Amino acid sequence: MNIPTQSDKAGLYVHIPFCVRKCPYCDFYSTTDLSLKSRFLKALFAEMEMVSAEGLCFDTLYIGGGTPSVFEYDNVSQIVAAAHHHFDFQPFSEITIEVNPGTVSIEQLMGYQESGINRINIGVQSFDQKNLDFLGRIHTATEARNAMTHARRAGFKNIGLDLIYGLPDHSQTDWLEDLKQAVECDPTHLSCYMLTYEDGTPAYCDLQAGRIQALADDNVRRLFETTITYLQDHGYTQYEISNFARVGKDGKPQVSQHNLKYWTLVPYVGLGPSAHSFVEAQRCWNVSNVDDYIASIESGRMPIAEKERLSGGQQLIEAIYLGLRMTAGIDLIGFKAKYGLDFTKVFKEVLSDLEGQHYIEVKNNRCALTLQGRALLDSITSMFIEQDVFDAEAKS
Ligand code: SF4
Repeated sequence: MNIPTQSDKAGLYVHIPFCVRKCPYCDFYSTTDLSLKSRFLKALFAEMEMVSAEGLCFDTLYIGGGTPSVFEYDNVSQIVAAAHHHFDFQPFSEITIEVNPGTVSIEQLMGYQESGINRINIGVQSFDQKNLDFLGRIHTATEARNAMTHARRAGFKNIGLDLIYGLPDHSQTDWLEDLKQAVECDPTHLSCYMLTYEDGTPAYCDLQAGRIQALADDNVRRLFETTITYLQDHGYTQYEISNFARVGKDGKPQVSQHNLKYWTLVPYVGLGPSAHSFVEAQRCWNVSNVDDYIASIESGRMPIAEKERLSGGQQLIEAIYLGLRMTAGIDLIGFKAKYGLDFTKVFKEVLSDLEGQHYIEVKNNRCALTLQGRALLDSITSMFIEQDVFDAEAKS
């Protein structure tokens, strides 16, 4: 496959911590107290002033959440303008906003377009009303389709859709119908996420209490494989475990340049409650509470909850885990240059075991999972991590 364009420029992420209603499966930080919107905005602009991003040049801005579309377009336009004022952006940067079909209008989308946003990501999740009800979404399938049509009418050419599969009793037929409807919308990008039951969410409690039953692993795996083959047959290239991009006129898949930074360990700076930053092997994240975030900034303190510097071993683990998430796999020459290790020598036994089972392929100086291997990403990554090359600290 084509290897997605990789840039060493940094990405800026802005977390909008508001949602109209919490979806029962979601463990992202957000609050439904919309009365805090204007104080949050003020705090966000102050955080932009406080953050030091000296020496970093940015080529992506991602306004995510939460539900960014709870803000009117003039507020969003202020966020885009402030980001450009405080950070050094390249011309033609990718500027994305996530929208919820239940909170976005054509007027808003036209306003986003005018403010310089050039990529829209729509949280559709499903076109089937019973699935939307199970997921506790605030929008209908018709609103999801309308959001797509409105985004086009507003002038957006780069539009991504998010879908979720693996719901209880999710059949192959139902999932194929969702995929078919998504493809008919003709987005440039599709993210297909497997439903997970995260500790502390209402969906997790329902699962623990036996009120719902998770789909059997084999069925989830079949849906995952169906996704890959169906989307491939319809012009979408899988470039990351959950992400698919249509090939553009330049022959390259229209990947999310921003999300690519997370998987290729390129620096990113996160603003807003719970947002993470990663610069020069140091990771830090903000407090996951909008009141604490605002209070911290109003008293002149950075809203950072914790910081950690990754050890050499931890960096290796991340490089392997993230590299295997990408269908292009781990760049073995880059790996040796960065970590001083010959990947194929160090992991000779694991590799020969996995190659024997057709789960992994090493060719053209890259090591990548096969289609069957991608369904086993977590267990395969563990096989590498269990090797002796990692220091004790990294494994803990
Ligand atoms: S709208 Fe998105 S961020 Fe908000 S609760 Fe639902 S899934 Fe989570």
